[in-house]
This record gives sequence, C-alpha cells and structure tokens, in this order.
Amino acid sequence: MVTRCRLEIEGVVQGVGFRPFVYQLASRFTLTGSVLNDSRGVEIEIEGEPWAVDAFIKALQTELPPLASISQFRREEVALKHDTVFIILASRNQIETRAQISPDTWVCPDCREELFNPEDRRFRYPFINCTNCGPRYSIVTGVPYDRPLTTMADFTMCPRCQSEYDDPASRRFHAQPNACPDCGPQLTFYDSDGRDLPGDPLKNCRDALRSGDIVAIKGIGGYHLAVDASNDAAVQRLRQRKLRDEKPFAVMSRRLAQVMTYAEVDKTEAKLLASVERPIVLLRQKNEFILSSQLAPHNRYVGVMLPYAPLHELLLEEDFVALVMTSGNRSDEPIAFEDNEARQRLAGIADYFLGHDRRIHIRTDDSIARVMAKRPLLLRRSRGYVPRGILLPAEGPSILALGGELKNTFCLTRGDRAYLSQHVGDLKNPETHDSFGRLIDHLKCLLDVQPQYVVHDLHPDYFTTRFSEGLSGVELLAVQHHHAHFASCLTENGYEGEAVGIIFDGIGYGDDGHIWGGEFFVGNANGYHRVGHLQEMAMPGGDAATREPWRMALSLLIQTYGDDLPELPLVQRRTPQELKLLRQMIEQGINSPLTSSCGRLFDAVAALADLREQVSYEGQAALELEMALCSKTLEEPYPFEWLSPTEQGKGWQLDVTPMVRAITNDLNEGGSAGIISARFHRMLAEACHVFCRMMRQEYSLHTVALSGGVFQNRTLTELLVDGLRGDGFTVLTHSLVPPNDGGLALGQAAVAARQKKDPLK
Ligand code: ZN
Ligand code: ZN
Ligand code: FE
Repeated sequence: MVTRCRLEIEGVVQGVGFRPFVYQLASRFTLTGSVLNDSRGVEIEIEGEPWAVDAFIKALQTELPPLASISQFRREEVALKHDTVFIILASRNQIETRAQISPDTWVCPDCREELFNPEDRRFRYPFINCTNCGPRYSIVTGVPYDRPLTTMADFTMCPRCQSEYDDPASRRFHAQPNACPDCGPQLTFYDSDGRDLPGDPLKNCRDALRSGDIVAIKGIGGYHLAVDASNDAAVQRLRQRKLRDEKPFAVMSRRLAQVMTYAEVDKTEAKLLASVERPIVLLRQKNEFILSSQLAPHNRYVGVMLPYAPLHELLLEEDFVALVMTSGNRSDEPIAFEDNEARQRLAGIADYFLGHDRRIHIRTDDSIARVMAKRPLLLRRSRGYVPRGILLPAEGPSILALGGELKNTFCLTRGDRAYLSQHVGDLKNPETHDSFGRLIDHLKCLLDVQPQYVVHDLHPDYFTTRFSEGLSGVELLAVQHHHAHFASCLTENGYEGEAVGIIFDGIGYGDDGHIWGGEFFVGNANGYHRVGHLQEMAMPGGDAATREPWRMALSLLIQTYGDDLPELPLVQRRTPQELKLLRQMIEQGINSPLTSSCGRLFDAVAALADLREQVSYEGQAALELEMALCSKTLEEPYPFEWLSPTEQGKGWQLDVTPMVRAITNDLNEGGSAGIISARFHRMLAEACHVFCRMMRQEYSLHTVALSGGVFQNRTLTELLVDGLRGDGFTVLTHSLVPPNDGGLALGQAAVAARQKKDPLK
C-alpha cells in the first residue's frame, strides 16, 4: 500500500539548509515526491509506504538542521502521483520571496569535524562553512541573498566547490560563502608597519600570542584585539594601549571544560554559551581565578564566549586556556572592520595583525548576555541575533525608530515584524555619527522598505533627534524615553493589555523637561500615566555628577540633613570651600538639574558606602555596588516612605531620606559596603513591591513590566521578580532585547505603530 501527503511548513526554513535536509530524509526512507520554497515557508509532497511517511515526518520534526525552526506544521493526505524520484523544485512565486537574511552563526558540528579531519580537503581551513553555519549578515551587500551580492563575490568557486553548491544532496547546496583552500579566502600575518611575515600565518599568530604580544585578529563582524588571558603583563599592556581604564575584557575559550576551570557555569549558562548565536556570557569568576586579575578589575564576573568562527577554533587549538578577545577599537570608538582602517586605527595598539581577504561588509559587535531569573537576558543584541525579526502585535506601516544616545540600536519595521539593528554604539562619539546613516540605509536595503514614520527620543539634544530633523518625506514622532522602555518590554513579551511599568535607568528626558529615570507608569504602548517616581534629587554639576558619584552622595546628604552634615569620611574628604560651593549650587539651582534617576541613586549609595567617588564608564558605580553585596547576608531592608501625591496630576514619590539616615548609622557602627549594598537592594525591591500592591488595589492591575538599564542588576531583578511572583503578580522582563537603551528602539517603534494604527485622542 502507498500513500501521499502534502506538508506545509512555516518558520525559519529558508536559507538554513532545509531543502537538502528534506531531500536526504526522503532518500533515507525511499520516498518519492518534491520539496519547494514558497513565500510562506516550505511545501513538501511525499509518497511511499505509510510507515515510511510517518517515520519521515517524525524525523523531519526531530532532526531539524541547527538553524531551522518550525512554527506551523500542516499535514494533508492527497491523491497519488506515482513519482519515481524525489526532487527539489524551483521556488514558487519568485517575485514574492522577500529577503530572508540569517544572522552570522557558529561553526556547525559537521564542519568542525571536517576542520580537524586530516583526510578532509578542508582540513584546517579557517573559512570552512556550509548551509548550517557560517557568516551571513556581515557579508551581505544586497538582496536577494545570493553569492554575487555577498563579499564572497570576490572569489570564484573551484569545480569541486561548485559541484557541492549545485548538488541538492550536499550540505553545501546553495551555501553562498562556500569555499576551500584552493578557491577561497586566505590568511595573512603582518606587523604593525604592514610588513607581511613569512611562514604559516596561524602559527606565527599563535607564537606571537604565546610570547605576550597583542594581535589584531580579523573576525566575522570586525577586528578583535587578542592577548593571552593568563599573561598579566600582556593584559595590562593592552589595557594601557586601548585607553580602557577599568572596563572588563571578554575572553574566549575553546571548550566548556576550560571555561569551568575559571568560572562558575550553570545549565542555562552552558546552553547559552554553546548556542548557535555564541554571545559573550557574563559568568561568575571562581574564587581561585586562574586568569589575569587585570581582565575585570573590581568585578566578580568575567565575560566569556566560545569560538564562533573556524579561525577561532584553530587559534585556540591547544595553547591557551583563554584568549582576551576584546573589540578592536580605542576606548569608545566603533569596532574596526575594514582592513585599511583597522591597520591605521589599531597600529598603535596591536603588535601584529592576523587578517584575511574576505571583506566584512557591515560591522557587527559581539553580543553580550547574562542569565537572570533563570533565563537568558541580552545586554547587547548584535552578532548572531541581528537581523532576526521580533513579532509585533499587528501589521502596520513601516517605521524607523532611531533609538537613544548611548548603546544605540535603531529599529525598522516591515509588516508585523520589527528588525532591531546591531549595536551601533555611543552617539556622543562623532566617529559613530558617520556610520549611523549608512547602517540605516543598509538595513532599509536588505528589508526592501521605505519607512513612512521616523521616531526619535523626546530629548532635544540627542544626535538622533537632530538626525531626524534632517530627514525629508517622512512624518516625525517623538516618544518619551521611559515610555519607550516600557513598550519595549511589553512588546517582546507579546503583551498588549495595561500593566504597571517600573522603569529604572540612568537618564531620560521627561515630559516635564526634567531628567527622569526612576519611573512608575500605568499604561501600555498606547499611552501612560506617571503614577509614581523616585523623589527628585539635585545633580550638582550636571554631567559631572554622572562621572563623579560623590556629588550625588553629598546631594542626598544635604537633602537629608540640611546644614548639619554627619561626620562621614566622604564629607571629611571635601574642603570647606568645596562643600560651600556644592551647597550653593544645589540651593540656588545653579547647574544642578533635578532628577528622579535610579541610576544616580545607585551612584549616590555606592559613594556613601565608600566604594567609588569617580567612575570611568557608565554604570560602573552601580555595578560595583552590586558586586560588593555579600550574597549570604540576610540584612533587613533600609526604611523608606511613599509620599502620597500632593497635587492633582502628580504621582507618588519614594522618599529615601529615611534610608540615608540608616546608612549613616550603619557607617558609624562600622557597617561594611556589603551590608549597605544588601540593605539598599532589599529596600528598592520592597518599595517597588509595596507600590505594585497599591496599584493592584487602585487599578486591579496584576501585571508588572520591568525595564531600563538598572534591570541589568541581577540582585535587584531577582529579589523583585521573586517577591512579586510569590504575591500573585505576573512579571514581564526582558530577554530578547536589552533592558538598557539598546532595546529602546523596539519600544519607540511599538509606540509609533500603536499611534499610527489607532490614534490616541
Ligand atoms: Zn557547517
Ligand atoms: Zn574550492
Ligand atoms: Fe534609558
């Protein structure tokens, strides 16, 4: 008996080796029929004995190619056609096929096997890839995704590669970056004067690294700067040359077993490390930390990734427990990705260069993730994730959302998907300005859309706001910063109802022209009410208060004690003139804007706890305050008070002066920074919880969304999430996009999409 079935499959099934996979399965079970790509996914017809058809379908669902995933599966019995073979048909509806660019991904197990197999013709070839793995987004120059529109257009396939490319049964069928040592890209090794060095480039590179030199290594989305992570002097030298005072360096190890020699890795973290996206994962350092202590000063975590390019596999083959692989740039400049530019910009930093002749078309930094509340959280969404779409609640006009000022990403929508860009970087930096427009144009081209609406932050002085004013033929919309954070969290969770939003971050421009950053909202993407916020504090010196947390600490002390400041070391270190000046600034409002920022509150407490008076990067004081917390302390939360709204339209205010008095007491009694940190974190979590209960009473809301850069803090997030869930709340947190400004553009787009679909009255 023979039967025939039609299968309609939707999901990530194009450009990921799905058709050759189906072809091979059909031959395994000696089935006849066909497979083809259509605009929605893949359509398969199979004919054969019923047991074989069932076995085929089972295998289809359980043995998927690594980059593929199925979201819809329909099966239908159809009339027999008595085919004699199984064939791959040409795609139906060619005009409809819209770009399906995959992110850059890892080295698949099959390619890794071949890479280290002396019998294989690609033995030790650093550019091995197949339809299941390899570079994509970073080499694409246009659409449709086809070899001539990638940087592999520079190379002509040799007959053997071409025959794999043409063979439906091959793992390299239509693998656009397909190459081998005879026809593909090659490595070069040269010194900082650009002189090629004789010999095997890979061996030269490893020798240099082993002797403590700094090597700039061309990767997938840009250059890395590499040194041996166990060599203190080398790491120190890299730090000095990069002008990177204290920012942690990421490392790469070959296998999980090596990572476990210097970091604690739980199951979720191990899975994230080994995922096809291969992000940098923040892991807790082992107590006995065997790598250089210079990697992440004052930090209990270390950023780790596993190899994601064949070149990395070869580099790490036996010599190193870990290599520092930090982005190839100086301080906060964008990562270098073009060869000439890299040679110039990195010449003062790197001793040597390991380059190659496959061009990187578009720069893409490494992604950074951390496990929080038992699930992965992206802190920087870039290589490996971009340009994967995020589902919006409904179809709508195309929107370009420009994002924020720091950690910028932008977002383009098409249909019911939002495409968040890779990490663009710090738009305070003029170097980044140049690439901003180019990156936008490139994504527009890949998605084949012309946005009708452009969204920018409410802040009049952001680069993105000025950029939007220079655009023509589009309608501009401004979205409040924390509303965008709120909407970002709701959108990635697919939640459209009303919720309480707790939005804690550094700084954002408020509706009232003040600096916001510790906000409690009720609403959703449609709109919001600011139902509460942290009580405002003065930021004496404006921007200087952000770089110098001692200013925030004194501001809080003056707010709490007035003229009668307690005898704390922080106070004693100031000269009478300094104190007088600061007091005048605050009292007369000279260069002392008011802020409800939670980030600044963290800074103030870190300075009060005597951890840090100045910072060298954004969020450093807050991070070190979290690090200082001894995990085992079960201290009482500090006292706090919610002040009820004083006038119509004003919200509740969280008064922290009771906490400041209690901190002073703790300090006078010799309390450690660890205790202050624990009590502070518990106070914030408790205050939020109390507020959510009030909102539940008042508005019958049971759903709470957490967003903003402060929620990169694991302790606060977990305390709050556990507390709220235990009390019957549904808590929405970020996972797909960062809670920091790297996720802002998604929320901006979501707010605009709502307003343009169903305008608010
Ligand atoms: Zn592969
Ligand atoms: Zn070849
Ligand atoms: Fe923000």
